[in-house]
Parts: sequence; structure tokens; C-alpha cells
Amino acid sequence: MFEDLQQKLGLTYLFIAHDLLVVRHISSRIAVMYLGKMVELASTDEICDHPLHPYTKALMSAVPMPDPNVAKNNKRISLKGEIPSPLNAPSGCPFRTRCPYACDKCAESMPEFKEAAPNHFVACHRADEIN
Ligand code: SF4
Repeated sequence: MFEDLQQKLGLTYLFIAHDLLVVRHISSRIAVMYLGKMVELASTDEICDHPLHPYTKALMSAVPMPDPNVAKNNKRISLKGEIPSPLNAPSGCPFRTRCPYACDKCAESMPEFKEAAPNHFVACHRADEIN
């Protein structure tokens, strides 16, 4: 229905959801948010096939795979801890309390949201190192 309406009326949607299979199906571009901050933005194929931010990687690893052969090789990334309250957000990178790659710099400053590849933006101090 959304796609029909989009074609008939020439609409642009801002579709907010937690079900990544639905998001992937309906979107041409995906923005991933954590604690109210955008941490990654890219085309749907790019972000699903080459996620750069540790949070996006964890989200993508949790998407159920319909093909059992693909699913068996998929390594799920489990995040430790709970999402902090936005009223008491951590210093620096908002994801640092759950990030397996967090370092001192992550506590000191908010990572810049920058273009890491053409039209692929990420907010992570260590995106170059971990990808
Ligand atoms: S900036 Fe640091 S804490 Fe934040 S996602 Fe990157 S490595 Fe993890």
C-alpha cells in the first residue's frame, strides 16, 4: 500500500521502525539512530551490505535470514548492557558504553558525522580501523 501510494502520489516517506526486514523492503535510504543521534546514513543496499558503525553491524547481524545456508554463516553480534537514558547520556560517543571498540577518545568527544564512502556517512572515531 505504501509503495502504491508513493508511486501514484509521488510521495517521500520518513518511515520509522525497528523491524529491519520491513525497513529494508520499503526504503531506498536508511538512517540508523542511537540515543537520538544519527550514527549512520547510506543507501539501503550499501548500509545492509557494508555497515560501518558498530551499532549498525550489531543490528544487521540480528536480522533473520530466510536462507538456512546464509543463516548458518551469519555471526550474531550481541551487545552488552542497556541503552542509557537520553536524560543522562554518556559523554562523547553516545554508543560508547556498549561498544566493543570504545577507547579513551570515544569518552572525550562526540564523533563527527562524516562521509566515509560516497554518500555513506558514519559517526565513529574508529570507523577506518574497524572496517
Ligand atoms: S566512536 Fe568509539 S564508542 Fe562510538 S561507535 Fe566508534 S568506536 Fe564505538
